[in-house]
Amino acid sequence: MSDCGKLIVVSGPSGAGKSTVISRVMEQDKSVVFSVSATTRKPREGERDGVDYFFIDSDSFKKMINNDELLEHAQYVENFYGTPKAPVQENLNKGLSVLFDIEVQGAMQIKNICPEAILIFVIPSEFSQIEKRLHIRGTDSEEKIKQRIKTAKYEYSMALSYDYIVLNDDPDSAANEIKSIITAEKCKAVNRQNYLTEVNSL
Ligand code: ADP
Ligand code: 5GP
Repeated sequence: MSDCGKLIVVSGPSGAGKSTVISRVMEQDKSVVFSVSATTRKPREGERDGVDYFFIDSDSFKKMINNDELLEHAQYVENFYGTPKAPVQENLNKGLSVLFDIEVQGAMQIKNICPEAILIFVIPSEFSQIEKRLHIRGTDSEEKIKQRIKTAKYEYSMALSYDYIVLNDDPDSAANEIKSIITAEKCKAVNRQNYLTEVNSL
């Protein structure tokens, strides 16, 4: 995978507000493309196939694994999730950055393949907000919410493997934090070397 520094991985417990914040970042920064994952989870009301996820069955998911079509994949609660490889490389070839909304096991797989990927962990400042938000979102049964909270505790234990922690108490501030991280990465000297060549050749 070329241009690993242009991969922006966003993780965080379910209910942290990742989708909400990411959609604001995507509206405001057209140099970043969202990586649409494949999942065996059923669509929620309002989710669109090919936009929010590629909603596929377990057999198709297994085929994608066997054909080496996924950059990473993991099981989360009772479903499988994975990142189709081809669109990531196509967008990098166009000079765009690619942003992933993926859980921690997948994030660590990307970090292994691409150590320069930027890893961002999103959380509210108080853990109790997660359960409240999952109830307000109303897309998961009580049992599923319990499983997601249990998984959240494991996910928190991985937070220090990330480069940045973004606090989401207000979606606009959290989106600004993510945009600032993307801007800072763009400004790194190593990513601006092409502006030095003219003087260096004088
Ligand atoms: P995730 O993608 O991390 O699972 P969502 O973006 O679906 O989380 O957000 C979970 C719920 O919390 C949604 O109902 C969303 O509207 C709400 N939400 C997101 N950010 C905030 C925030 N900063 N304050 C309060 N509610 C929020
Ligand atoms: P949800 O069911 O709430 O949409 O997503 C559940 C979890 O799966 C979230 O933590 C989300 O970040 C993660 N996820 C979504 N797509 C992928 C993917 O392609 N790979 C991995 N590893 N996790 C994903």
